[in-house]
Amino acid sequence: MRWAIRLGRIAGIEVRIHVTFFLLLGYLGLAGYHAEGMRGALELMLLACVVFACVLLHEFGHAFAARRCGIRTPDITLFPFGGVARIERMPENPRQEIFIALAGPAVNVIIATVLWAVLAVSGHAVPTEQTGMAGTLAYEVMSVNVMLLLFNLIPAFPMDGGRVLRALLATRLDHGRATRIAAHIGQALAVALGMVGVFGISIRAHEIAPNPMLIVVAFFVFMAAANEAGAVQLQSVTRGLSVAAAMVTDFRALPRNASLGEASDLLLHTSQHEFPVTDPDGTLRGIFTRSDLVVALREGGPEASVLGVMREGFPIVHPRTPFDEGFRLMQQSGTTVLPVTDEEGRLVGLFTMENIGEMLMVRSAIAQSRRGR
Ligand SMILES: [Zn+2]
Repeated sequence: MRWAIRLGRIAGIEVRIHVTFFLLLGYLGLAGYHAEGMRGALELMLLACVVFACVLLHEFGHAFAARRCGIRTPDITLFPFGGVARIERMPENPRQEIFIALAGPAVNVIIATVLWAVLAVSGHAVPTEQTGMAGTLAYEVMSVNVMLLLFNLIPAFPMDGGRVLRALLATRLDHGRATRIAAHIGQALAVALGMVGVFGISIRAHEIAPNPMLIVVAFFVFMAAANEAGAVQLQSVTRGLSVAAAMVTDFRALPRNASLGEASDLLLHTSQHEFPVTDPDGTLRGIFTRSDLVVALREGGPEASVLGVMREGFPIVHPRTPFDEGFRLMQQSGTTVLPVTDEEGRLVGLFTMENIGEMLMVRSAIAQSRRGR
């Protein structure tokens, strides 16, 4: 995830925060300062941090529920509009999906109920002039948790309610179609929310003024809904495939003692853009790309060795590695190629972005022709 800062690991899950959260914090600080000076600014920013702690707990609700279904959560990212727990795979079973989706809102129910009970016992169920700062904060946090609960139960992607809707639809429709419906509702909602953000709205006597934060939220909801639809489409096309289905097997490797000049020959006389370097027995040493080669040629000339330019320490996949895992590893390492080796470490293929694109084109064309028949 770009523009996200790592905060640390909790229970084996990496917690990150998106930089736009600090924009929100700054906006709230200014708004608070404008209204009540320094004290107002600090109070609003403190409230924002407590709310974010609640959002984080909400995401851990999802993560722990997923763990009970045997699914890992590598990371949680906090955005201004809420959090995203990236669970490793979606459960195929709609019941499990509903369980995981509702575990987050359940955390907000617990927080709100506990705060309400504490406030009721201490006689401040409704804050008055005498309610101190702690009581007011508790009341506000309780209200925010109720709002988070209601917001997340909206039946549209990327909200949790959208997942519940998708799971319910998926019992009747196929998974991809169910996702598209939930994503389209999410996008329509985002557009409506964005309009309210730009123009404001008045319903009977209630006025909602134009609000830039609403526009930001709308933007994120729209993007997240599109992302979800795209990811599921990729998943439905590549379901059950392994790396072997999309790897290039007709390629040339360079020996360890090759020069950059020989690599340039390979670049010019083949259609290859990625260059693996191997030992005489075929064991993989490293790999470099066309752009690595161009930079190295400029610095070292054609006589320089390929050993100086090749990269090492990248993830390696096997022909039987599931496609999604290979794709995720490629995205995480920020490259466009992963070498594919057999059990003995001999290079047997190249898993490249270009080839993945071609495979997807072919497969979706075939799927369309089947549907058309
Ligand atoms: Zn949630």
